[in-house]
Amino acid sequence: MRLMSASPTAALLAAAALAVRAGAAAPAEAVQSLPRLDAQTSLLVVAPHPDDETLCCAGVIQRVVRAGGRASIVWITSGDASELDLLLIEKSPFVKPATARDLAATRMREARAATARLGVPAAGQLFLGYPDRGVLSLLTDHRARPYTSGFTGAAAVPYPAALFPGHPYTGESLERDFAAVLARTHPTLILAPSPRDSHPDHRAAGLLTVAVSTRYGVLSGVRYWIVHGGEGWPTPRGLLPGVPLTAAPRSHALALAAFALEPAEEDRKLQAVRAYDTQMRTLAPFLLAFVRSTELFASLPEPQLAPQ
Ligand SMILES: [Zn+2]
Repeated sequence: MRLMSASPTAALLAAAALAVRAGAAAPAEAVQSLPRLDAQTSLLVVAPHPDDETLCCAGVIQRVVRAGGRASIVWITSGDASELDLLLIEKSPFVKPATARDLAATRMREARAATARLGVPAAGQLFLGYPDRGVLSLLTDHRARPYTSGFTGAAAVPYPAALFPGHPYTGESLERDFAAVLARTHPTLILAPSPRDSHPDHRAAGLLTVAVSTRYGVLSGVRYWIVHGGEGWPTPRGLLPGVPLTAAPRSHALALAAFALEPAEEDRKLQAVRAYDTQMRTLAPFLLAFVRSTELFASLPEPQLAPQ
């Protein structure tokens, strides 16, 4: 994975700060909890990789579906650079592009099965197919010049099942495709990764959401979750039904709203996690640690971005 220079990310964060300040007219108290979930709700979950939507948000997804609302998931990447999976398949650190693309096809099938268990219809399962481990590069160094994935060898979306096959791996193309998803789903609630997440694809997906949602006037409907929240988190690892999720170290200073899952929703979340065979093979204790009685959401992407 290529290391990113700090300055482009800092510039993106500064732009996000301006956007949040401009859009944050409501008092902080009013925006800390999730809005009411009912038949008018159109939920869009922004998932950098297949499995993130289930880990962060399986409870909210089920509640929206049960209330008669609409639930959609947009997967920014198809998880085609999961090194542990590729190592298990190839039994060698040298990965063939075809193997990485096959892994993506498997992970997309798993994502469809997992989210179908949560009640998401096929029409709400939206894959963009951008490069795993490359999303931050698209938003910084590759806004107009295509990026080539070191895993799949692709410089454009290679998956026929994606929304826009053949679209180039550039930041401009990703923003256009994400905007098309907003136009298609008309979300009233967007659950996106926090830019404080330690995974670069997650940070980038959060920044992308802030930037495009601002342009479309839906920023006030965005809430932020963390999956890679700091060393050892979530603690303890493994399945602990009925126990609340603790706040991640990286969410320090963020005001978090806890969404409480009913026991049946927690059970269904476990079934959805178990649909991810490839990930359960390598990361089970981490994945199962998200099957808890609460899911946590921040109303702001960064603590320093609070309205002034
Ligand atoms: Zn992820």
